[in-house]
Formats: sequence, C-alpha cells, structure tokens
Amino acid sequence: MKLSANAEKLINLLSENGYKAYAVGGCVRDDLLGMPEKDIDITTSAKPESVEEILKQNKIKVIETGLKHGTVTAVLYGEPYEITTFRKDGEYKDNRRPESVDFVDDVKEDLSRRDFTINAMAYNHNEGLIDLFGGKTDLEHRIIRAVGNADLRFKEDALRIMRALRFSATLCFAIEENTKKAIFENMHLLENIAYERIFTELKKLLVGDNAMQVLDEYREVIGVIIPELKPAFDCVQNNPWHIYNVYGHIIHAVDSAPTDEIIRLTMLLHDIGKPSVKTTDEKGIDHFKFHAPVGADIAKKVLKRFKVSNEIYDKVTTLIRYHQGVENVDDIRVKRWLAKIGEDYTRALFKVRISDLLAHNPEKIGYEVEKINELLQELEAIVAAGEAFKISDLAVNGNDLIALGYTGKTIGEKLKEILMLVVDNKLANDKDKIIAYLK
Ligand code: ATP
Ligand code: MG
Repeated sequence: MKLSANAEKLINLLSENGYKAYAVGGCVRDDLLGMPEKDIDITTSAKPESVEEILKQNKIKVIETGLKHGTVTAVLYGEPYEITTFRKDGEYKDNRRPESVDFVDDVKEDLSRRDFTINAMAYNHNEGLIDLFGGKTDLEHRIIRAVGNADLRFKEDALRIMRALRFSATLCFAIEENTKKAIFENMHLLENIAYERIFTELKKLLVGDNAMQVLDEYREVIGVIIPELKPAFDCVQNNPWHIYNVYGHIIHAVDSAPTDEIIRLTMLLHDIGKPSVKTTDEKGIDHFKFHAPVGADIAKKVLKRFKVSNEIYDKVTTLIRYHQGVENVDDIRVKRWLAKIGEDYTRALFKVRISDLLAHNPEKIGYEVEKINELLQELEAIVAAGEAFKISDLAVNGNDLIALGYTGKTIGEKLKEILMLVVDNKLANDKDKIIAYLK
C-alpha cells in the first residue's frame, strides 16, 4: 500500500515509542481498489493521552476531536489525520452508538468492531496487510459482507444498513446473501437512527454509479426511511409517454441525472406526488395533474424530517414544484425562468428536465433533450452577455423611482413590471427609456 509521507511519519512516531499503529478502514480499502487517496485514518495501541504527548513532543498540532471515543486529530502541513486508539465497543442500546467504548491492546478487537470486511483491514509497512476477515477476497469478488454475524451487527447499529447500501451504490458491489437477508430483517430499526445520519448516507448512495440498482433491489429499505415513496412502488402509469411505473421511472431518472447530490435527490422525490393525484380517463389513460406542486409539498415534509440544509431544502422543493412547468420544451423561455428562479436554479431545472425525459419511453422522446441542451447554451450566452434578468440588473433602481414620486410597495412592483418588459424585449434596459416609460 502507498502511504503518504505524513501518514508514514505518524505511524513511525507511534512505533518508535513502542506502540502499534496502522492505517485502517476506508483508506486501505480504497488503496487496494486503486482509488486515489482521500483521508488516512490511523489506529493505534497508544491511549489518547500518549498519542497527544507524542505529537506535542514532535511539535505536531493536535486537535482533541473525540477524546471520549479515543480520537485525536494530528495536523501535519495543514492535513488532518484522525488517530484512534484500538477500541472495542461497549453494549449497544437502541440500535445505535455504543454506551461506552473500551480501549484494547489488540488490533484484532478493533478490526472486529468495524462494519464490513472491506472496511476492516489495517496496514503498515512493517507488518503489511492485516486482513482477518477476508476483506481482500471480498474486494476482489466485489462483495459487501458484514464482519461477524450480520444480524447482530445491524441490531447493534442500524445505520450500517444504510452504509451497506451506500457502499453497494458507490463501489458497484453486491451485498452478500446473509448480509442482505439481515438487512431486510432489521430495516425497521432504522427508525431508531437519527435522520441526519441516514441522510448523510443517502446522499452518498444517490451519487453512486450503482444507485439505480440499489434503489430497486432495496426499495423496502427506502420505504422505511421515506414512507411517502411507498405508494409509488406499484403505481402504474398507463400513458404512452411512460414504460415504467412511477417508482421505476423515478429510479431511472436518478440514474440519468448527473452525479450532483441536489439533482439526484430532486429526481428521487420529483414524482412523489403522483400516486395521490392519479386519475384515469375514459380511454384508460392515466393522468397526474398538479403532481409537481403536490409533490413539492410532500418533499418539504421529507426534507424537514431529514433536517437538510436550507440550500438543499429550497433548491430541491423549488425544482420539484416547477418541473412540470418545463414539460413542453417549445414553451420554455429561458429569460422568463431566469427572472423567476434565478440562474443557478434555472440551470438545475433544465438538467432535471433532461434527467426526467431520459427516463420516459425512448420511442416518444425526440428532439426534446437536444432542445433543452440548446436552452442551456442560450442560458450561458445570456449570462455571459450580462443581459438583464434580475431587478439589480436594471438600469434604474428604487431611488430613481422615488425621485419620480413612487412610494412604498409600488416601488418593488414597478421594478418587477419593468423587469418583465425588459426580459420580454418590450422595453430597452436603458435609463432614459425606462424613465420615459414610467412617466
Ligand atoms: P469514506 O470513503 O466514505 O470515508 P470510510 O470507510 O472511510 O468511507 P467512514 O465513515 O469514514 O467510512 O468510517 C471509517 C471507518 O470506520 C470505516 O471504514 C469502518 O471501518 C469504520 N466504521 C464507520 N462507521 C461504522 C459503523 N457504523 N459501524 C462499524 N464500523 C464503522
Ligand atoms: Mg473515511
């Protein structure tokens, strides 16, 4: 395994002081997969106080990250390294986090507490790879397998269920049969896990190359964390535009989307409103009027529960609300959208529409995707040319209107009116012309 000079230095320092120390977990896994190095975590027999002392003696900056859990962060040349004492987890209650942790002397015990065999390997240059549970073989066979008894491991900490799905989605690995069985048997325990922690894993899952397969195969798990999606699972859409049912369409839309967290999350929730508004006409064709605003309201509840950031909340719910508004590509007017929801959201909305289209009946979609790509280019051209599409772009401002005698609310209203005229090319963005219009 390659070790960065910094990681090697830390491991050597600990060894020279008579302790065992290894790179461990995700960095060993990623290195064996030939993936670029992210952060290197170190595990050691040294107790946190000793780690701190050794670091300080060597003038290495220390951050006391999680002393209680045995973690000290060393900062070398601006790079943080988490150094955690070998530990074994105490008793688990409520299917999450152990009550206490005990420090132990043997790396074996530390590796046994880790979630999956591929995450339970350690390495240093002296001893080479320490692989007690067949992690390397599982990596070669592209398998995610719980360390020890899968059922017990998920009962200890149900977040591991989401982690299994996440690793399956990002690494394109299958989940081993017993581990899979234990996932379905224990999935309801996810109800005991903090939504923020679940969401962290869900976001990573969604941008994985294998996200669609995981969302399909483990839809029941998704139904536990987002029960609002359950009606979509077998909601038929008898409509020439569609070849999948609602959930099938949703997961194909996720798959078609760029690997952007927000767009993928939008695709996962974009048609969540469909089952509740479904109607069937006399010819047997299904319709889903107003599913977008209805869906946006459902998504609000889901996202609030996940305690997502304001940025994610606003963007995802706005994109869902307006995704039907760009259904007819010939009616899309780029500048109108720019004026309505701004540059960033418009760009995203067009990408949402493309992802959505690509999950429709391929025989029905013709020039639409190409057309939206042209609109995206038009958007970039408008932005690059500095054309006006927001109030602050106008050649007049509130003060100009006050000078003309406008007061209160009407100032804002007039500015909006002018903006819409400018956007529609009915009025030039020129101070004299605008003032003449106002007079
Ligand atoms: P990433 O590349 O996303 O950082 P990672 O494997 O490093 O993946 P982390 O969440 O950073 O994942 O955790 C570091 C290591 O800690 C894991 O490789 C695993 O050995 C262990 N671990 C993390 N979470 C759990 C858990 N819930 N149960 C058991 N072991 C865990
Ligand atoms: Mg990590």
